[in-house]
Amino acid sequence: MSCIFCRIVAGEIPAEVVAKDEGAVAFLDINPLADGHVVIVPRKHVALVEEMTADDAASLFRTVVRLVGPVRKALAADATTIGVNDGEASGQTIPHVHVHIVPRWKGDGAGTIHTIFPRKTKRTVAEAAAAIRKALGG
Ligand SMILES: [Zn+2]
Repeated sequence: MSCIFCRIVAGEIPAEVVAKDEGAVAFLDINPLADGHVVIVPRKHVALVEEMTADDAASLFRTVVRLVGPVRKALAADATTIGVNDGEASGQTIPHVHVHIVPRWKGDGAGTIHTIFPRKTKRTVAEAAAAIRKALGG
């Protein structure tokens, strides 16, 4: 087993685990973007969100929902940014689905998810919507 997140789930690699349940394990990011930056991983190895079953995705997000309030309270944060890098080109460095919860404070200097994109679109919104509907089979 070479996946670092699978090894954390198995207890083979130490981590600051903050929560565990039947479907997921939550621990602090070793290179935190802010105090209390938590990563939640499904116990089952899956590389991409689109490879998850609906039940596994629901289980993972239940753990995210359970953690957000306590993380915010514990760090006296004003808000959180919750994000998933899905695929190598997005910056996903470990190919095991993981959700980041990053505490945020007013004036912390970090941007929004919108600020990470240069907004270089090549298609109209209608064209993109039509392509997605077609991919969905509709
Ligand atoms: Zn894994």
